[in-house]
Amino acid sequence: MKNLLEIKGIDKHFDISGSILDQLKFAGGKVTRKKTVVKAVNDVSLDVHPGETLAVVGESGCGKSTLARTVLGLYRPNRGEIIYRGERIDRLSPSQMLPYRTRMQMVFQDPYASLNPRMTVRQILEEPVRFHNPSLSRGEVKEKVAEVMLQVGVDPVWATNFPHEFSGGQRQRISIARALVLDPEFIAADEPIAALDVSIQAQILNLLMDAQEQRGLTYLFISHDLSVVEHISNRVAVMYLGCLCELAPAGELFSNPRHPYTRALLSAIPRLGGQAGGHTRLSGDVPTPINLPTGCVFHGRCPHADERCSREIPAVMNLGGDVQVACHGVEEGRI
Ligand code: SF4
Repeated sequence: MKNLLEIKGIDKHFDISGSILDQLKFAGGKVTRKKTVVKAVNDVSLDVHPGETLAVVGESGCGKSTLARTVLGLYRPNRGEIIYRGERIDRLSPSQMLPYRTRMQMVFQDPYASLNPRMTVRQILEEPVRFHNPSLSRGEVKEKVAEVMLQVGVDPVWATNFPHEFSGGQRQRISIARALVLDPEFIAADEPIAALDVSIQAQILNLLMDAQEQRGLTYLFISHDLSVVEHISNRVAVMYLGCLCELAPAGELFSNPRHPYTRALLSAIPRLGGQAGGHTRLSGDVPTPINLPTGCVFHGRCPHADERCSREIPAVMNLGGDVQVACHGVEEGRI
């Protein structure tokens, strides 16, 4: 299968050192200069197949949202390549990136923050259509916007209202409409239901799944909610501290998790009729991405860690059946 998107060895680091004065440290009678770098994404490689939903999961701060934003060109990677339909796009200028802006869209977690409060829904939806399709007449633009509003379940009679006049669920529908109105092929959805009431979440998920079916969309679905991911994704990538731990088809990952971190995450999902005491508690806190542990980034919390784990970064191994794992314990057959 030809990949729609290939992410190859991506690093995304943020220098938060501040001014030169902020970087100067005084210790032992000497002044030294030290940079502070947040290593949000580290050597992540993933392929995204056309028409699939690839979920990226992990705790807050694991780098999943940074990865999505880097793929969309909102951040420039420090290292690695992003290839879309065979074309490398990670070094393109804003003007060279324009054709990809229509094909690749993003839906954000907080619809209130991502919609301009001073624009009506019509203006929010018409503006990108006009910009990317200058040949369309006013009537055609209006028709397209009305069609997409209907598809996401917002009556076009509300097009003259402002975002604050809608509920959270309706605002997320409008965010999705803004992504769909450019007829994209690929959408990165960054925790699209996390800010919504539980009663609304299922409606928005169904909307995303219907849109995928009708339009043949491909999703990169960022979430910390494993129950949702199990329900909607074809494959799942698990990240910890900016690194890829495991990548597998959803059914395989949920029935037979290999990586110790994946096992711990899955054991925390509440199951109907599940046995008490099945939850694997991880010891310690998540280390800071400013000062990554040596070797496997999970070794400080892993019940299977040994000396090799603290010294050597595990390579991502292909186990067959589209399953990839980065773990010395799995490689050595002791997990
Ligand atoms: Fe645990 Fe070692 Fe595997 Fe890391 S490489 S997950 S520390 S067993």
